[in-house]
Amino acid sequence: MEKLKNFINGEYRAPINSQYLENFEPSTGEVYSLIPNSSKEDVDLAVKSAEEAFPIWSSMSKEQRSNILINLSKGIEARSEEFINAESKDNGKPVSLARSVDIPRSIANFHFFATAILHFASESHNMEGLGINYTIRKPIGIVGCISPWNLPLYLFSWKIAPALASGNCVIAKPSEVTPYTAYLLGQVAKDAGLPPGVLNILHGEGNLVGDSIVKHPSIKAISFTGGTATGSIIAQKAASMFKKTSLELGGKNPNIIFADCDFELMIKTTLRSSFANQGQICLCGSRIFVEKSIYHKFKEEFVKQVDNLLVSNPADPNAKLGSVVSKPHMNKILSHIKIAKEEGGKILTGGNQVKLDKPYDKGYYIRPTVIEGLSFDCKTNQEEIFGPVVTLIPFEKEDDVIMMANSTEYGLSATIWTSDLKRAHRVSNQLQVGLVWINSWLVRDLRTPFGGMKSSGMGREGGWEALRFFTEPKNIFIKY
Ligand code: NAD
Repeated sequence: MEKLKNFINGEYRAPINSQYLENFEPSTGEVYSLIPNSSKEDVDLAVKSAEEAFPIWSSMSKEQRSNILINLSKGIEARSEEFINAESKDNGKPVSLARSVDIPRSIANFHFFATAILHFASESHNMEGLGINYTIRKPIGIVGCISPWNLPLYLFSWKIAPALASGNCVIAKPSEVTPYTAYLLGQVAKDAGLPPGVLNILHGEGNLVGDSIVKHPSIKAISFTGGTATGSIIAQKAASMFKKTSLELGGKNPNIIFADCDFELMIKTTLRSSFANQGQICLCGSRIFVEKSIYHKFKEEFVKQVDNLLVSNPADPNAKLGSVVSKPHMNKILSHIKIAKEEGGKILTGGNQVKLDKPYDKGYYIRPTVIEGLSFDCKTNQEEIFGPVVTLIPFEKEDDVIMMANSTEYGLSATIWTSDLKRAHRVSNQLQVGLVWINSWLVRDLRTPFGGMKSSGMGREGGWEALRFFTEPKNIFIKY
């Protein structure tokens, strides 16, 4: 069986403790590779190599760094098919989704920050007759990047690219549930000309190697994407060491549908915003609020179209949903569906596991599920499920829907469907979220601030926000 390795100091290395974890293929439920269960010793080694590499990498011109990162982006592009198939196999998502979203976006992340750094400027503040302040921004040093399993290489590269572009050396840890494309990335980085030690990729469990990254005194900043509970643990440890943190956490996003919307476009987009990537996108709209006057029309059409979504093995070109990421996650989703029923929810469609034919009969498939009849403040409508499960909630008044939308601990994103421009602005302004899409969903401009408020996170990624996070500003005043 294939044994993955860590990537340290420009070389693939086995974990020092020789311990491995099983890596499952979610579409078949079979173990298909082993991944290092790395420990503190591997982190120490990676940090040592990053310390040696930092003076070299940080003193390169931004043009040189930019060229290497563009090579890296081209390197993924040249091996696209391999990355697409690996991502789908590791995560269970349809190959078509990895081809249209995950891998193109990973390529774009490196390209975007490789070019953004060339335009990144710092400020100066003139004080009439007195002097001038100028602010310089320097790389932090060694930074930690920890990412989740839902969009594996997409989110891994979203952190690594700005960290490297701004001159830092990186200790990165992908999710142990989906390590494969991060494993492939090491070789691409080496071929692109990235000096040894600049990017180190460690595999293993969060509470072991992840924790060692968070606690290592030489790692000065942590960029984390994952669950809110994990984010809270990391925030506490990092705060006690005065580390800079960027936390992108969970969500329970409202999708608010007013009667005056473009119905066809809304239905088409709502199918995606509910079930893309098996509902395992932090931005999926899992609470669908529908204005009462169109509730029945919406329910009928939506449920009909959900029934037509094919759940199939990821290689099937017609698959709209593949498998969810792991057995424990499948069981978690099914237990949430059970709770929804206990709370009095009515399952309009789905609600069950799907058994495919061999060799996919042990895979983790769930039918897209639509539930109605639950109060906005019940457990199902307050807790993140992170699977192909949405609830329908009717509303009459704008103020009521805003109150219900804001009622969870989360504040990541929201979607609003209306043709009334004034209302679109009014409602957007009152929603406690970091991102709003009006009459659309998941349209991303990499220059815009990305992230949430409340328990959905701290700080923003994207564009200048990311480059500011990964640099330390120093203000210098000089007297006239
Ligand atoms: P998770 O929190 O379990 O794990 C995320 C990463 O953190 C993994 O690499 C894991 O190994 C590591 N980790 C776990 N415990 C750790 C610890 N104590 N110290 C250091 N690292 C640790 O999350 P997950 O299940 O992989 O991902 C799903 C969650 O991610 C959902 O809640 C989802 O909403 C969230 N998410 C948020 C965004 C966003 O941008 N806001 C994007 C994608 C996913």
